[in-house]
Amino acid sequence: MTLEDTAHLDASDPLAFARERFRLPEGVIYLDGNSLGALPAAAPTALAETAGRQWGDDLIASWNKHGWIDWPTRIAAKLAPIVGAKPSELLIADSTSVCLFKLLAAAAQSRPGRKTVVSQKRNFPTDLYVAQGLAEMLGIELKAVEPDELIGAVDADTALVTLTHVDYRSAAFYDMRAVNEAARAAGALVVWDLSHSAGAIELDLRAAGAELAVGCGYKYLNGGPGALAFLYVAEPLQDELQSPLQGWMGHAEPFAFIDDYRPADGILKFLTGTPSILALAALEAGLDTFDGIAMRDLAAKSRSLSQLFVEEVETRCGSEVRLASPRDPMQRGSHIVFAHPEGYAVIQALVARGVIGDFRAPDLMRFGFAPLYNTHTEIVRAAEILAGILAAGEWDQPRFKQRARVT
Ligand SMILES: *Cc1c(COP(=O)(O)O)cnc(C)c1O
Repeated sequence: MTLEDTAHLDASDPLAFARERFRLPEGVIYLDGNSLGALPAAAPTALAETAGRQWGDDLIASWNKHGWIDWPTRIAAKLAPIVGAKPSELLIADSTSVCLFKLLAAAAQSRPGRKTVVSQKRNFPTDLYVAQGLAEMLGIELKAVEPDELIGAVDADTALVTLTHVDYRSAAFYDMRAVNEAARAAGALVVWDLSHSAGAIELDLRAAGAELAVGCGYKYLNGGPGALAFLYVAEPLQDELQSPLQGWMGHAEPFAFIDDYRPADGILKFLTGTPSILALAALEAGLDTFDGIAMRDLAAKSRSLSQLFVEEVETRCGSEVRLASPRDPMQRGSHIVFAHPEGYAVIQALVARGVIGDFRAPDLMRFGFAPLYNTHTEIVRAAEILAGILAAGEWDQPRFKQRARVT
């Protein structure tokens, strides 16, 4: 495609206006919004306002005056159209790992006598580690299987299934409804990790029969580094499940200061301690970048960007790289991986030229497409730069092979 063609695509993009909602550095093509979403233009002001005028001027009165106490549910409600849930089924809390522990433990304890947790081999590490620790604690067994063995692994002994919906490496995703139905038929619960789905593809948790889910706030949701996470508990389960981390903020009357725990009604019982208000202010600015955006348009643009990238890279780079994501855009999330034996160095060479992607061991170059701010012109430009780096062997320098602590 020529840059003229892409300029035409960008001009007719119904989401083009949303790019202005972000502060993106000049001269950078940012294809890593799946790992750390870009800075919402409104976030610095929101943080300054919350810190200066609220915390600074109104001090502790802000819990009432500015409604801080309701922020975990008020801000969670903004996720409802993004994931296809009712506002009352969502809560902002903790990190993804901690939310995952809470829901896995709650699910396991609601299925006493069942001895296994089923997950997938090569799931995101924290998801497996949390499940391993919980299984050890409860004296049950974690069975991590291949994706195509999953449905067959669910039986009458399964307490719960836990899966990442969109794979963080390949971007392949599970048929959520099929897994939910198989688990339900066996009497097991499913806990979905939506970290690479929420804000990237069209989700309808209710229609897919999802009962429990968690997700990350700092990826496509643009909530800032180390943002709070979210959890989803379908209404019918909210009474049945207990929070395994009973804290005062999940108590029916936190300010009665009584000795005995009594859970709050609904989703609030899954709150544990005092919510991080500054982090909530940043996450709210992130969620507000989705204001007025139809998720159908967002998903369509995601496919358009990723498809263009695949075509441009394959045309320009030939057999030097191998697509390691599903070829069908209807079968993948909003990122793409290409394998290259020197993928780490190639990514560093790209970064040096202002194209930011990332690397996932052993050999995967990962490129995320954030439909709210990436453009078709950026995609073609990035493919052109990648092809130039490969053709010139530009990656083959010691400075690009030196591994950083965080990759
Ligand atoms: C990013 C990501 C996480 C992050 O967990 P934190 O507790 O926020 O560090 C967890 N699971 C998956 C699948 C992820 O992609």
